[in-house]
Amino acid sequence: MIAPPAMLGMLGGGQLGRFFVMAAHELGYRVMVLDPDQASPAGRIADVHLQAQYDDAVALQKMAAECAAVTTEFENVPAQTLSFLSQHLPVSPAAECVAIAQHRSREKTFLRDQGFPVGPFAVIDSAADLEVLAKEAQAYFPAVLKVARFGYDGKGQARVANLDEARAALAAFKGEACVLEKFVTLDCEVSVVLARAQDGQAKCFPLSENQHRRGILDVSIVPARVAEPVREEAEQLALEIARKLGYVGVMAVEFFVSEGRLLVNEIAPRPHNSGHYTLDACLVSQFEQQVRALVGLPLGDTRAHSAAVMVNLLGDVWLHEDVSREPRWPEILAVPGLKLHLYGKHEARVGRKMGHFTVLGREVGEALPAALAARAALGVADD
Ligand code: AMP
Repeated sequence: MIAPPAMLGMLGGGQLGRFFVMAAHELGYRVMVLDPDQASPAGRIADVHLQAQYDDAVALQKMAAECAAVTTEFENVPAQTLSFLSQHLPVSPAAECVAIAQHRSREKTFLRDQGFPVGPFAVIDSAADLEVLAKEAQAYFPAVLKVARFGYDGKGQARVANLDEARAALAAFKGEACVLEKFVTLDCEVSVVLARAQDGQAKCFPLSENQHRRGILDVSIVPARVAEPVREEAEQLALEIARKLGYVGVMAVEFFVSEGRLLVNEIAPRPHNSGHYTLDACLVSQFEQQVRALVGLPLGDTRAHSAAVMVNLLGDVWLHEDVSREPRWPEILAVPGLKLHLYGKHEARVGRKMGHFTVLGREVGEALPAALAARAALGVADD
């Protein structure tokens, strides 16, 4: 076990890193954050902020020399960074796990080859791979073409009805490696956030039901409103994926529920936006769990003491008619059971995650209407 006040390394300085810093501080650890952005949310509250690129040799040397262990808050860390650091100190999750999760083709292929349920997909490394699909187009279309790397929050994705549209979308992505996924009918979307320790012990947080708008998570509802066998199967699948990966740390598995069946959508090798509710509805949050898994402390109790509804606050909330005015915080802070989290980002942009709030209640039927009313009070209309 790594004892406090050891310095823990965090690759990435976004809001996930910021919550990790807070959780680490609560347990008496210090944190060194690597992020090139001078105003990064985590860097600003870290004990040390290394303001450098993720492959900066000097910064990585310093991290290796001064930290007791390193983890990450985003999947696009260069593989060489993780492998360099792992020669010097414990790094979790391992470079091999991140390499799978950061690349949609590798991820989908891994899941299919290991026997996990995934929707129909094809790896599209070049235009020629699309032409091969011509004979069996009905098996793949309508579809979503997604870039294999660096896509997030619906970016680098195009809905395509047929092969012609897929050709055009691939050209618009400049021939980048992609995955073509058949568009599946969604009953709903759910996710499991889990932590797995060095010794293989693992714990899931309660299943979250996730609603997206324009490709970005909008609302998470906990407990998810699915039948008990679906909930149990989602947890079992997520635990089994973590076991097959030999995963250590916190990870999230996103699922589609399609015609009553679970299909794995994607894996995030880090805490996840759909697990933010754990900050307020669980004794131990996904971020404290990440600290515990990293330093070798026992994993915490993952039970939720309340039902919870989390609502993301995007930059759009700030960009109303009178941009000099702050959103109406006093109104929503007056809502019983509501907890607001703002990430300290200075510049509001459309689609940028600036904060979130969670409304707790005895049951979803109580928390959901209150959360939606609070969202409406901030000027976010229902689509
Ligand atoms: P992703 O970035 O892959 O999680 O996609 C963002 C969102 O787009 C998902 O959460 C779904 O709401 C939707 N989506 C993505 N892929 C599909 C698909 N194959 N079928 C139906 N909806 C999808």
